[in-house]
Amino acid sequence: MAMTRKDVIRVVEENVEAMRTAMRLDDWVIRFEEGRLDSLDGSIARACCNVDASYRELVVTFDAEACADKDEQALLDTIRHELLHAIIGSFYIYRTTAVDGLDASLKRVLDTVFSHAQEHVIGSIERMLDVGLKMNATKMSKLGKKRLGMKVW
Ligand SMILES: [Zn+2]
Repeated sequence: MAMTRKDVIRVVEENVEAMRTAMRLDDWVIRFEEGRLDSLDGSIARACCNVDASYRELVVTFDAEACADKDEQALLDTIRHELLHAIIGSFYIYRTTAVDGLDASLKRVLDTVFSHAQEHVIGSIERMLDVGLKMNATKMSKLGKKRLGMKVW
């Protein structure tokens, strides 16, 4: 069932801390901020993130209106997906240092390869969790809530 913008914000607020706990990202500074996202290729962008692995900082921008067509499970999948970018955060250090001194066209090529590679790795981790380990995002959030001593319905 579709959600309202308020529902989306509530689901994010109620689950990010628990999912971060379940994923052992305790030493990361993680912020989820609402914002409008422009789509460059016509697809609907629901969330994007900036990773600063040197300072273990992840900032996720989510478009609550664009997320409203999702159900809660799909939104939790999106939250988990964005948190997984922190799990592979060390690659961002490689990304930023490897391109030093390269010309703009080569930087674009490496950026495209990097984007594809990171999404592929995250997709593999998601399949491992969902299919291989039967640990979907909802279960992961409940596990984190238990660890935090929160009431789990
Ligand atoms: Zn991604």
